[in-house]
Amino acid sequence: MITVKSTQKLFTEDEISRLTGICLDHLRVVARSKHLGSIVRAAGAAGGEAERWLFTSVDLSVLTALCPRCEH
Ligand SMILES: [Zn+2]
Repeated sequence: MITVKSTQKLFTEDEISRLTGICLDHLRVVARSKHLGSIVRAAGAAGGEAERWLFTSVDLSVLTALCPRCEH
């Protein structure tokens, strides 16, 4: 069971990974296949575009139900 501040509405993939124990690789695979979260395009460091994932607290609870903590 994960408890988060109810005022927090959106989570980055890093926060989700830290909260759930799911690594970033698996997190992205599950998010894509289950249509969770949303991809935000942001300016990358090298002038290109970088993908950033944002998740809601609902996405977070679905992810924890679907995906066990990574053990690798
Ligand atoms: Zn993993």
